[in-house]
Amino acid sequence: MAATSQRFGAAVVGAGPAGIAVVGNLLARGVRDVLWVDPVFSAGRLHKKYREVPSNTKVSLFVQFAEAVKPFEDIISNTPSPHAVDHLESLDQDRGCRLSAAADMCRMLTEGLVKRSVTQAVGRVRTAGWKRSAWSIDVDGQDEKQAASSQTADLLVLCNGSHPKSIPLPDSCKHITNIHLDTALAPSILRNSIRQDQLATIAVIGTSHSAVLALLNLYTLAKSSHPNLHIKWFARSKLLYAVPKDGWILYDNTGLKGEAAVWAKEHLEDDKLKTNAVVPYIEKVELGANESFTESARLQECSHIVQAIGYSRNPLPELLMNGQPLRLKHNPYSGGYEDQNGKKVPSLYGAGIAWPETVKDPYGNVESAVGLFKFMRFAKRAVPEWMEIAAL
Ligand SMILES: Cc1cc2nc3c(=O)[nH]c(=O)nc-3n(C[C@H](O)[C@H](O)[C@H](O)COP(=O)(O)OP(=O)(O)OC[C@H]3O[C@@H](n4cnc5c(N)ncnc54)[C@H](O)[C@@H]3O)c2cc1C
Repeated sequence: MAATSQRFGAAVVGAGPAGIAVVGNLLARGVRDVLWVDPVFSAGRLHKKYREVPSNTKVSLFVQFAEAVKPFEDIISNTPSPHAVDHLESLDQDRGCRLSAAADMCRMLTEGLVKRSVTQAVGRVRTAGWKRSAWSIDVDGQDEKQAASSQTADLLVLCNGSHPKSIPLPDSCKHITNIHLDTALAPSILRNSIRQDQLATIAVIGTSHSAVLALLNLYTLAKSSHPNLHIKWFARSKLLYAVPKDGWILYDNTGLKGEAAVWAKEHLEDDKLKTNAVVPYIEKVELGANESFTESARLQECSHIVQAIGYSRNPLPELLMNGQPLRLKHNPYSGGYEDQNGKKVPSLYGAGIAWPETVKDPYGNVESAVGLFKFMRFAKRAVPEWMEIAAL
């Protein structure tokens, strides 16, 4: 469906997993006129960047995402088998899988939603302004086939995603080639980004899930096709593992899980780093509590660098309130926002990795809830609250 000029009940920015979860819940709650905007409509970063990544969540959680709301169930029953949800169901439910399986499921749901249930606008939201009790949304077209358009909606939901952070290197590091974290997470691309005959010393920065996956991928290369490759792992903190408890998981969102956790325990703990298997390939460089890797003299020994130091929110569309620029403060419980004067912004919400829900575990640890299942759980709770406030 092409976007037409009408007033929508809701507009959702972004068609990654979070956007899919929000659209599914809006439809499940009876909002029939949903405008959905994304430049590609292809499961966000899950499909674009993470297909080769081993999941840190169990397959059963992806299946639960796919079956969480009635509009998704309808898509599943109307899609000829074998399809992506059949494939997920055929896997061991208690183990992880390649994220390609989850990405294919998300793409299948997206295809079903845009075919039957929502108004699709292919492009990027450039500006959104609140005026006369509605959001006025300008979408940049992708090319001459996808013209720019202006739409109006009662409710606006930002699911605009995030991308890897990186810090500029000092001038003394001009000889160091950057390997983007996205490349380090995709073995088939990483393999071709470093020459096999090249003596390469690669700095990997960080102790996150992404850092461990980058280390695993580089270690695998060094042991097989790239014998001249060495890794210096710059770590400021200890590795943190998720711990299964009775009915819940300690450090569920921040701890290592799945294949990355298994490999890290066997290769990256201090006693393991001293074993013959690891010594030729990985050396750990411990940074002081307040020391930045950019200040470490050891960085000079490296020819390449992979920075796995977290993720930053993608740029927002220009947001206006009665013509004036809006600066947002997110409420990570409701998903809503306040403006720069502490005033609630009407009918504007966020979800997904850019705007995660804050949760507290039974020990009182506070974390951001990230992952498909968590986005779905949040959308199920929050969407009815948003609709009630907007009186949709
Ligand atoms: C290495 C790694 C491994 C992970 N593994 C798992 C896992 O095993 N299990 C799990 O459940 N989760 C996992 N996650 C977490 C999470 O599920 C993904 O990061 C997911 O891609 C986040 O979804 P999202 O929809 O919030 O954002 P994104 O996937 O980034 O999607 C955002 C979308 O918004 C669009 N957009 C942005 N700005 C605009 C605009 N102005 N107008 C229109 N569209 C716009 C973008 O083009 C994009 O399509 C992992 C994350 C990482 C980094």
